[in-house]
Amino acid sequence: MAGLPLIKLRLPYESEEEFLAKLGPSLARNQIFVGTRSPKALGTVFAFLFVLKNGAKILGGEGKVESISADPARPGMTVAIRALDHDSQDLLALANGTRKSRPPAPAAAAAAAAQPATPPTDPAAEERKRRREAILSGASSPSQPPTKRSDAPILGIDLGTTNCRVAVWKGGGIKHLPLEGRNLNMPSVVAFDEKGRLLVGARAKAHVLVDPKSAIFGAKRLVGRRAGSRKVKEMASRFPYELAQDEHGDVAVKVQGKVISVPQVLSYLLHEIRDRASTELGCATVRAVIGVPAYFNDRQRQAVRYAGQLAGLEIVRVLSEPTAVAVAYGFGKGLTRKRLLVYDLGGGTLDASVLEATGDDLEVAGAGGDNFLGGLDFDARVSRWLEERFQATQGFALPVDPLSRQRVRDAAETAKIQLSERADARVMLPVIAQKDGEPVSLDASLDRAKLEALTADLVERSLAVTRVVLTASEIPPSAIDEVLLVGGQSQSPAVRAAVEGLIGKPAHRDLDPFASVAIGAALIGRALLDDPSAETFSLHVEEKLSLAVFARTLEGAFHRVLDAGSPLPCEKTVAFGGAKALEVAVYQGEKDDSPDLEFLGLARVPAGAQGELTFQLSADGMLSLFAGAPTQTRRPVALDSRAADPFALPEDGAATLPALAADDRKGGLLSRFFKK
Ligand code: ADP
Ligand code: MG
Repeated sequence: MAGLPLIKLRLPYESEEEFLAKLGPSLARNQIFVGTRSPKALGTVFAFLFVLKNGAKILGGEGKVESISADPARPGMTVAIRALDHDSQDLLALANGTRKSRPPAPAAAAAAAAQPATPPTDPAAEERKRRREAILSGASSPSQPPTKRSDAPILGIDLGTTNCRVAVWKGGGIKHLPLEGRNLNMPSVVAFDEKGRLLVGARAKAHVLVDPKSAIFGAKRLVGRRAGSRKVKEMASRFPYELAQDEHGDVAVKVQGKVISVPQVLSYLLHEIRDRASTELGCATVRAVIGVPAYFNDRQRQAVRYAGQLAGLEIVRVLSEPTAVAVAYGFGKGLTRKRLLVYDLGGGTLDASVLEATGDDLEVAGAGGDNFLGGLDFDARVSRWLEERFQATQGFALPVDPLSRQRVRDAAETAKIQLSERADARVMLPVIAQKDGEPVSLDASLDRAKLEALTADLVERSLAVTRVVLTASEIPPSAIDEVLLVGGQSQSPAVRAAVEGLIGKPAHRDLDPFASVAIGAALIGRALLDDPSAETFSLHVEEKLSLAVFARTLEGAFHRVLDAGSPLPCEKTVAFGGAKALEVAVYQGEKDDSPDLEFLGLARVPAGAQGELTFQLSADGMLSLFAGAPTQTRRPVALDSRAADPFALPEDGAATLPALAADDRKGGLLSRFFKK
């Protein structure tokens, strides 16, 4: 079952009394008018959460769009209330006059409703800090067991390129769920043994030694990408397994002669997570919030959601990873205006993002990264050095068989991790080779200075990427208030020092670099439950569109539909003109200087829609299309992602120029379609 979109609205009312005075009568008719310039399509069913001016929750439930206002002076939609959560039902009883007063709110919620967020210097901040720590460590007082479906915990999943992690809100706090025995991290690896049986996690990782071609890791880098795209062609040589094409035209993997779609691969991981989480929690868990890199486009987000579906999970929200990190950091802090740099250096990828927190709102101001820069590159440098040392001391080269290679790589990683804590590490690999029938060992000592010399250029590359993100966000390093370092590799002192040097201030200390994405996702999951406590969940997360949306008719008219940075959810209607049916190619990509527009699919606008197509982006950055403008009765339009890109760049780069709409003839736009 697909997750319902969530509409969160802050109402201009101070109190429950004012709310009832203004909206009580309509609530009693099970109807509510929502004033908005971007109403949802007629018939859309969605979850809603209305809060008062002070952020306290007033009404939560499920609604359906009954009609859309045709009055331009009063834009909006009339919503039929289909279901109300538990305490909203009390409110309905009040509105109906069948009840005189509400039961007293829990003390914490009442206190929060009465008080606006206070700065951290306030005495109350101490109490909040204590509470935050208790909650994040899972040590706070247990809450009631789940009594209805909507109370079942929502998992917060970090589906990392290298490691998966899962957290959940339970018993009034964050609980980290073990995924491998007692281990909290599960390697993001899927493999097939010699009998074709599926292996997941640590067992799959171990299988890399036996048969590297049957093990799939790093699949997250491939998800939602078209098989024929330039990016995939560039990446192909960097994967030890074979790449193929799935039935949607997306890149897939080929293992033991079978083509497996990337969402399918990810679904094996998610299925394992779901199973282990359910066992751990003692109840079936089917709902999850999942993190994705901020720069993931609609297609990649849809593919991740689809992977969840294949795993029997309902993905209630796809959340940008840096947003999750910022939530984990900002949670319970009463954030005032702050600019955050999230530098996430994991096993295989670097993601750098700038976020702005204003009061309760959080926005991603800019995001970028390097898909092939991470801990593995550091390991490779150490491995190469070990091989050279071996050659120099023994007079012959280390054996190149996969098992020996992997042993060296694993030893290199262990030494690298040790050097984050200490100054020296010894690498000892007994019987790694043979000489004249005698076993030969690898025995070498590595110090931190050597490691840093071997990897200095990698660290510098990560800074260059970070600088680009800062520049694109128009935020100078000195304007960053807080540096949040996440991802395993950012634990290394050299990386920490380099980023601190770039920004000119120390990085935040008490953030778990391995857990913060999962924690943030779990907190958002908690906030999406029916009954969020007003105090602890006052953070309102508003994501921005990370990549601009473009559309082009087959005749060639090219439109910039929505700019990167548009607050989500958002929508725009484009009038392509004419009453005839028409076909529109839809793309998503970076700003004007990026050559990497991704083709999302082909939309067919039926005759009778006056050549108008409405592009609607949900809170998680997913695209829906409708024929016609918002005020008309709109019909959903499918985006055919299997269609070939009608404007695909021929291999030699030769192509004809498109006819640009006048206001799109601005700097650099063409470079996205055509090599210069
Ligand atoms: P991902 O986000 O790609 O799933 P992680 O955040 O789990 O990855 O990071 C994994 C990487 O972090 C690995 O390359 C691992 O070697 C590295 N790593 C883990 N701990 C440390 C440490 N203490 N110091 C340096 N690197 C570390
Ligand atoms: Mg990660």
